[in-house]
Amino acid sequence: MDEAAGVQTSTDMPIPGTMKAWVLGDPGQLRIIEKPVPMPRRAEVLVRIDAVAICATDLEIIEHGTPALIQGGPPFNKDFTPGHEYMGTVAALGPGVDEYKIGERVTVEIHAGCGQCKRCRQGMYTSCHNYGLNYGNVDKGHRANGFTTDGGFAEYAVNNINTLSRVPNDMSDEEATLVVTAGTSMYGLTELGGLVAGESVVVTGPGPIGLLAVAVAKALGASPVILSGTRDARLAIGTKLGADRVVNVRNEDLVAVVKEMTGHGADYVVECAGTDTAINEATKMVNRGGKICLAAFPHEPVLTDIGALVKNNIYIYGIRGEGKSATHRAMALMAAKRFDATHIHTHTFPLADLPMALHYARNRIDDAIKVVVKTRGVVTQTKKEVA
Ligand SMILES: [Zn+2]
Ligand SMILES: [Zn+2]
Repeated sequence: MDEAAGVQTSTDMPIPGTMKAWVLGDPGQLRIIEKPVPMPRRAEVLVRIDAVAICATDLEIIEHGTPALIQGGPPFNKDFTPGHEYMGTVAALGPGVDEYKIGERVTVEIHAGCGQCKRCRQGMYTSCHNYGLNYGNVDKGHRANGFTTDGGFAEYAVNNINTLSRVPNDMSDEEATLVVTAGTSMYGLTELGGLVAGESVVVTGPGPIGLLAVAVAKALGASPVILSGTRDARLAIGTKLGADRVVNVRNEDLVAVVKEMTGHGADYVVECAGTDTAINEATKMVNRGGKICLAAFPHEPVLTDIGALVKNNIYIYGIRGEGKSATHRAMALMAAKRFDATHIHTHTFPLADLPMALHYARNRIDDAIKVVVKTRGVVTQTKKEVA
């Protein structure tokens, strides 16, 4: 790291000039290079990355580019480092930063909005109007690490202080990487949906966001919480995270089960599967005046019964990321041990083995759910869930 006016460092954590970082070449091609360690600016810190979880969106970016946007275009062959679900240790402070100390463990959320557009002013910084306008002479201050700016498959990254949550001493590095996933579920349920205790929730699709949506809903007092999916092993993890009822849609009629358990249908459906069937079932099992949160990305337009939504006064909304500081609130629940997110962590690899880690995540080898990569002192570990 070059010396810069006002940047504070500590002799306890000397910062090298360069670091190891994976960068994206052509689609699907990652290589590890030496890159300059970035420098924190005003309201930013340098984070030494200790652990980073792989997300399905990373796999999408590495193969197809979207939704990453680097210098206004696709992220290929720009020495861009993907990875966005990371945690680490504060290693240097930008000018004027006194909110954090060097040596503190932190976990991060992805988006730091521009702070000046209409949506940022409303606290909806994951919907920033200046998304990706952060380069050259159009730098609006927007940052989404691993999407529009360098991310976490590296030894260091720069983060806005607004994106940081402190990690308690008794929380492992691996667990801390899961806070942003829980924060996304939280954003769908509380900040946008207004969930209060005693309301019923159905979660469709037991991926990481769906599984932690079960955990967050339960921790917030939702009742009952019903999880649907097609794989019994995943549904069993949902039970451990607090689901009152799991439904394998290969064997049971989900809509019938929900109607039977709730009477008129669920107050909330959190749709995490992204399939036509799941979206159509959501419209049938949400009760009158209920809400459907769309948290998955269908790849094609979906045909659904809009008339039923109108007649039944249904609210339907998409969520983008982990907005409105929901990550901070998810950390509060996890720090208080209201649920054990580590049920979804299955494998750990060293940073040097990132391609193998991505292979496990992509192909769900050995029932992989969340695969975590660590930057130091780790040997490959696999952890099988015992259902
Ligand atoms: Zn993610
Ligand atoms: Zn903005």
